[in-house]
Amino acid sequence: MNNIHPIFDTLIEREDRERRLGQKGQVIWFTGLSGSGKSTIANALERKLFEEGKVTMLLDGDNVRTGICNNLGFSLEDRKENIRRIAEVAKLFKDNGQIVLCSFVSPTEDIRALAKNIIGASDFKEIFIATSLEECEKRDVKGLYKKARLGLIKEFSGIDSPFEVPEKPDIKLETENKSVESCVDMIYQRLF
Ligand code: ADP
Repeated sequence: MNNIHPIFDTLIEREDRERRLGQKGQVIWFTGLSGSGKSTIANALERKLFEEGKVTMLLDGDNVRTGICNNLGFSLEDRKENIRRIAEVAKLFKDNGQIVLCSFVSPTEDIRALAKNIIGASDFKEIFIATSLEECEKRDVKGLYKKARLGLIKEFSGIDSPFEVPEKPDIKLETENKSVESCVDMIYQRLF
């Protein structure tokens, strides 16, 4: 449906919002297997930015799947709709001048391309947390791999649902044998 209520000429410009905040609105998108370290690194990076006075927003499975996406499952179709909604929300915050950190498995090139398309390529940074399946399974932070191997959880990325390795991420980060701080520093150096 077309927008029949054209308000755009009255909106405050994005540039004005960014000038007020002293930062550039952007979306930092973390992709990787469950347990790879997306949320840990996104949280620590957000904390660092927050302490510098930046205005940030963190979106991850916990605050999205319990709310705006609570009617969605884990079929590829539902995963795509999940990411579509998240990307639309991230875009709103980004256009408001905020730095949005998104932590989602986002398992296929197709799904990541959808997010990038919605958000806009120039405001979208893809960070691939490249922890191996073996290491994620060894960490098994939430006990989910064990359940997936037992067949108690279906359609688990890396086990019985695909995870396509990102072909051209902006940053590819290995976490094995690295501290969280060094991973955060590496992203920070590259993006800020
Ligand atoms: P995800 O959000 O990708 O599902 P989590 O951040 O919830 O993953 O879990 C990652 C786990 O790996 C945490 O227990 C974290 O302490 C551990 N870990 C070990 N080394 C690192 C590292 N360099 N970066 C991020 N997490 C790490």
